[in-house]
Amino acid sequence: MVALPELKFTSLDEIPERISTARKAFMEHKTRDIEFRLVQLRKLYWAIKDHEEEIIEACAQDLRKPRFEAAVAESGWIMNDIVYTTRNLHKWAKDEKAPEIDLSFKFMNPKIRKDPLGCVLVIGAFNFPFQLTLGPAIGAIAAGNTVVIKPSENAPRSAAVMQKIVEASLDPSCYTIIQGGIPETQALLAERWDKIFFTGGATVGRIVAKAAAPHLTPVVLELGGINPAIVSKNANPRLVARRLLWGKLMNAGQVCTSQNYLLVDKTLVGKVVEEFKIAYKEFYPQGAKNSPDYSRIVNPGAFARLKSMLDNTNGKILMGGTMDEKELFIEPTVVQVESVDDSLCTQESFGPFIPILAVENLDEAIALANGVQSTPLGLYPFGNKADIEKVLSSTRSGGVSCNDAALHIPTLPFGGVGESGYGAYRGRSSFDVWVHRRPVTSSPSWLEAILSIRYPPYAGKLSKFQAASTLHPDFDRNGKKLTLGWLRALFTLGGGTAKAGAGRAAVLAASE
Ligand code: NAD
Repeated sequence: MVALPELKFTSLDEIPERISTARKAFMEHKTRDIEFRLVQLRKLYWAIKDHEEEIIEACAQDLRKPRFEAAVAESGWIMNDIVYTTRNLHKWAKDEKAPEIDLSFKFMNPKIRKDPLGCVLVIGAFNFPFQLTLGPAIGAIAAGNTVVIKPSENAPRSAAVMQKIVEASLDPSCYTIIQGGIPETQALLAERWDKIFFTGGATVGRIVAKAAAPHLTPVVLELGGINPAIVSKNANPRLVARRLLWGKLMNAGQVCTSQNYLLVDKTLVGKVVEEFKIAYKEFYPQGAKNSPDYSRIVNPGAFARLKSMLDNTNGKILMGGTMDEKELFIEPTVVQVESVDDSLCTQESFGPFIPILAVENLDEAIALANGVQSTPLGLYPFGNKADIEKVLSSTRSGGVSCNDAALHIPTLPFGGVGESGYGAYRGRSSFDVWVHRRPVTSSPSWLEAILSIRYPPYAGKLSKFQAASTLHPDFDRNGKKLTLGWLRALFTLGGGTAKAGAGRAAVLAASE
């Protein structure tokens, strides 16, 4: 077994000074240079690689996370993130041509620069301690920010290993780790930031947003959700069971995207439950407790919360149901419930519970799902194309996996909506979320002849200005789109196209 460092909380007195170092480094423009960012990310990659065994061991000690899950969803995930980012960074960071610009403004060479935001804060969650803490930080570094990282104290070994990795690889004047619990996080939140990226529960998310408001600090909130799986009568019960069981056994259900409850067409409930039992035996022939491939609940507090959810259910346990407090073990547990008001459905379980409610049809399922929480993080419809389209067009959610569990394409934008948060990252979005799109125009001196129409005295200029700049509607007073828009545009010199703009520019030039 590889030895792990001890987690030591950062002293409260040290926090303002550490932030001011990072802020100063930003103001000295240290992180503006793309090559500097690339070198930091590449060094981080190798430090992760060199400490991979410690990452896997820390995840095992914090959560008894299986080696497979730690290698795939923690170390492997963030290393892939870095390679993907470093490969694309020049392309993402390049100035963009401004889209749909009228010809009359084209001479000003309008473009969009991607400016770093400044000195930013990343606050991580415990369940994927490396992926969800270093993941946002990778994007922040790529975008040219200086970054303060606060890992979750609830995965203490992972937090300590993360510190070792960051300190072994990154420039300490630009990137730093603050360790601690609530007092340390509150001390961080009392400071001014250029952006805060928070992953965690909605209660703390609200605390973060409130703390950011007096400074007008933008915030990304990656929160949880009471995610439904909706199973139509046309779904394949075997796929439903195998995929949704996987969604709940990963990290023992401590996954923000895993389904919280199932709404299953009443004709399919029996078959789906049977298939859950078959899949459970296939995945864990010796039972989940004796398997090396099943995590434990993070701490006694979380265990007690989950136990009370199960103790209070009015449903019938059809599979699993065993627990061991000493080991913080909870078995994957299928429960047939009578209503969405059941204790297993009304809050996010963040544990291995699979409550199933029988519904009459898809309409009932959609109405119930929208009633429980209309903006969950994930939504998982199972059925044929028409069923899925019906669910998609009558619901909202951060993301959707059709005929599957969890959301798992690592480079797709990932984020919530409404109660599940706001802002998104991953893939290119991890860069975009950390930059300000700064429009830049440059007016050449020869343009003065045309620009002089904007200067006083205004007498006689308005009609010429309007002839040059007015866009004419291609819709009537009833909101209907007019036909033959191009003909009209030709006659009115309006319409916003490059050609129309050229016409207007000609009128303007002729009038000078
Ligand atoms: P949490 O909200 O308890 O804690 C997250 C962070 O907030 C920790 O770093 C913690 O130190 C800090 N914190 C806790 N209480 C605080 C307070 N009063 N003031 C200031 N800071 C405080 O979340 P968690 O238990 O680590 O994670 C579980 C939750 O996170 C679940 O709701 C889950 O759905 C959600 N989550 C969301 C995502 C996502 O990407 N959307 C990913 C993982 C987890």
